[in-house]
Amino acid sequence: MRWLAYLWASPTTLLGALMIPVALLSGGRVRAVLGIIEVYGGAVALFLRHVVPLRGGATAMTLGHVVLGLNREALDRTRAHELVHVRQCERWGPLFIPAYLLAGAWALLRGRDPYRDNPFEREAFAKA
Ligand SMILES: [Zn+2]
Repeated sequence: MRWLAYLWASPTTLLGALMIPVALLSGGRVRAVLGIIEVYGGAVALFLRHVVPLRGGATAMTLGHVVLGLNREALDRTRAHELVHVRQCERWGPLFIPAYLLAGAWALLRGRDPYRDNPFEREAFAKA
């Protein structure tokens, strides 16, 4: 039944896979780890540092079965946390990104931190 989880998460995975050629054409790298594709370095690092709307940028980011990272060490360090997000993507499928953004917006509307108080992040921090 694992293939069903991959299929259900595939719209989000495809979005992440768009970063593979971006990484490879800019000096970044791609590797397979534990059934996921890790993409790191090159323009992916610039994207995480400067485009992701977090103070100081992001160290890693999960999009389905693709995990973007600043570098290998960052991916090794954040793997347990990002694997929780991979399972969330398998559970939520194409609804993951809208649900994640809505949860962050809901936290913000309540005067909370849209990242730290996002239930998806709280689960990942609790389990990792
Ligand atoms: Zn997270």
